[in-house]
Amino acid sequence: MSRFWSDITHKLDPYVPGEQPQHERLVKLNTNESPIEPSPQVLAAIHNTTGDALRRYPDPESVALRTAIAQRFDLAPGQVFVGNGSDEVLAHTFLGLLKHPRPILFPDITYSFYTVWADLYEVEYQQVPLNEHFAIDVDSYRVPNGGIILPNPNAPTGVLLALAEIRQLLEQNRDSVVVIDEAYIDFGGESAAALIPEFDNLLVVHTLSKSRALAGLRVGYALGQETLIEALVRVKNCFNSYPLDTIAQHAALASLEDESWFQQSCQSVVNNREWLSGELLALGFHCLPSAANFLFASHGEKRAETLFAALREEGIIVRYFNKPRIDQFLRITIGTRPDCERLVEVLKTLL
Ligand SMILES: *Cc1c(COP(=O)(O)O)cnc(C)c1O
Repeated sequence: MSRFWSDITHKLDPYVPGEQPQHERLVKLNTNESPIEPSPQVLAAIHNTTGDALRRYPDPESVALRTAIAQRFDLAPGQVFVGNGSDEVLAHTFLGLLKHPRPILFPDITYSFYTVWADLYEVEYQQVPLNEHFAIDVDSYRVPNGGIILPNPNAPTGVLLALAEIRQLLEQNRDSVVVIDEAYIDFGGESAAALIPEFDNLLVVHTLSKSRALAGLRVGYALGQETLIEALVRVKNCFNSYPLDTIAQHAALASLEDESWFQQSCQSVVNNREWLSGELLALGFHCLPSAANFLFASHGEKRAETLFAALREEGIIVRYFNKPRIDQFLRITIGTRPDCERLVEVLKTLL
């Protein structure tokens, strides 16, 4: 608190990211990072960036990168927006497309940054409860609204909504923007991007942080028809004309060009997820069906908070949310196979 703070600053309730311990040797399964290093082509692109390129400002429109993303999804470059991590893309979306007189809708259990942006930009919102299986019930979104945003697969549950359900949501809400935050779609879902030509109210948001192992690079993007993308460009050019630095643009492009690294890395995460979920089941955990790079698991007898603290003592950090409905769950990022084995070994001693 300070007399120098603005009224807005006094009222802010900032997002708290998962911890990033700097010095300890830990098995870090708390922020859904990739356990595998990015494609070697990404590192080569970073090394090959010249001093002359860094002397100049980056391309403010990231044309080469947007063109490559557009090709991947069979879209035009004008249907792609890129930002400094998908968090920035989502923040611009709240201001540029979701701030209307009616409240926006999102699930009661979801990415906890949504309420933070809504408060920051004074966007009214209403939280729609997940059903008893922790799944999104599309029929419960049949209420007048100023927009809808949801992650698919949802976070922190990992539960996937089928493309047919998303289509229904889009048809049900022709007059509001529906934002599908697909941060984890590459680990087992089908992207809604294929529906963009049919729906002028659909915005799909992706990140290179999870499935492309580039959380440290900060690159995310949005896909949608030109009018939606234009709104994001307008907001961006009132905030920061150069959200992606030159290194990030080169490296992100190199990542998109290495399809075989991408396929192998997603497959190995999926394989480890299936292995770990079997082991957890055998230890008395119930895991929600996950299409993401993490498991949301609850133990029949042991309290989640106790397990969280005991794992930490053993050098394993997972994520625990002390929130209604999910305070008996642990969110466990899928690590390397040795990481997963270490987790199982420690859990056996604790249970
Ligand atoms: C990780 C995550 C993001 C943010 O990703 P960045 O691109 O690293 O900012 C956005 N949405 C969800 C649901 C996430 O889990």
